[in-house]
Amino acid sequence: MKLVLATGNKGKLREFKQMCKDEVQPFSELLGEFEIVEDGDTFAANALIKARTIYEKLQEKDPEGDYLVISDDSGISLPVLGGEPSIYSARYAGEDATDKENLYKLVDEVKKKGLSSTPAYYTAAISIVSKYGEYVVHGWMHGEVIIELRGEKGFGYDPVFIPNGYNQTLGEMEDEVKSEISHRGKALTLAKPIIGMLQNK
Ligand code: IMP
Repeated sequence: MKLVLATGNKGKLREFKQMCKDEVQPFSELLGEFEIVEDGDTFAANALIKARTIYEKLQEKDPEGDYLVISDDSGISLPVLGGEPSIYSARYAGEDATDKENLYKLVDEVKKKGLSSTPAYYTAAISIVSKYGEYVVHGWMHGEVIIELRGEKGFGYDPVFIPNGYNQTLGEMEDEVKSEISHRGKALTLAKPIIGMLQNK
């Protein structure tokens, strides 16, 4: 059974490879790059859209192949902004916005509220699609968003996110440390036994 990751996001890919000991292969190596329209209204719905799309395309290309597709849909939510940007995290500053543009927009919105820090949380939905059906698990990480950018590690909103119980931003943390506490790491802790069970069926 081949484990395929339904993401083109370089930050996610790096973290998945580190957490799965390189066992996973990005879909682009098998199918080339293409956009998937994520029009679900929850993280879980969007994660399933991504994994199903890739699974169906792999089946079309290689009907004899035995694939298990893993996807991640994730984002950051700020209660002070009514929960935004949530499922729109990747396009907060516009359809084709870069990670940096989204990050600056978030900082601007917090500044507009007259705050220098505010509670926030990341959500990750990981979905698993194979011939045995579909599964979705979630993980969360709570902390604070600050208005000063600190650190070059991680990706996305990491330079302004300080997890609860820490002094460093995720941008200042090594991937190994982030993975132990992150929304993605927690969701993957739940996903791994499911993946293991499906591989041994
Ligand atoms: P998706 O690829 O549609 O799931 O969009 C996820 C977006 O959420 C990314 O582009 C980032 O902006 C943000 N995001 C999700 N997880 C993380 C993380 O671990 N660190 C920083 N930003 C994240």
